[in-house]
Amino acid sequence: MRVTARLLLVGPPGAGKSTQGSLLAASLGVPHLSTGAVLREEVRRGSPVGRQVGEYMRAGELVPDWLLRFVLEHQLSSALDAGVVLDGYPRTLEQAERFIRSLGHAPLERVIELAVDDETAVRRVLGRAPGARADDDEQTARARLGVYREQTEPMLEFFRSRGLLETVDGNRCKETVAADLGALLRARARGA
Ligand code: AMP
Repeated sequence: MRVTARLLLVGPPGAGKSTQGSLLAASLGVPHLSTGAVLREEVRRGSPVGRQVGEYMRAGELVPDWLLRFVLEHQLSSALDAGVVLDGYPRTLEQAERFIRSLGHAPLERVIELAVDDETAVRRVLGRAPGARADDDEQTARARLGVYREQTEPMLEFFRSRGLLETVDGNRCKETVAADLGALLRARARGA
């Protein structure tokens, strides 16, 4: 059975994009590309670009597109050729429009919104391993949530109007969400 192999996961901080993204990628046999993880690695390496990226990430803001391009451009284009579960890019309407324009032969097959309410999102972020991420304190988590509601949610309509969007209730436990995602993709692959 053929299952979708170029997916985008969208959701607020704490929605489970990373957990579900790696599970999905493993089950589909494609790489999981988390732009947050790629950016954190650049910050860790301490490159000049990484130092600038780190300032935005620590403030809970989006990294501006001109800076993002230095880090992501190459990885994105090669990942799309091979099939990928994208986690974290695109996440603004401008990024989505540019991304879709540039895809040409390799369109996204499905965009999955992991919908999570604000308090669940913040509670999950604060429950993550302490010290693992510089942007996981409450103030920054709430800032990232605000950025998501203002800058990322408007992008969802772009994909909805193209018939690409599915919404999954991400408030539930990770096993239930994973089972739902699997069922959704299998149903799509059967043309249901
Ligand atoms: P995430 O791991 O998806 O929560 O992303 C962590 C942080 O990385 C975000 O708060 C942003 O600062 C930055 N980031 C990740 N993806 C993007 C993107 N597509 N555009 C701008 N900034 C991004």
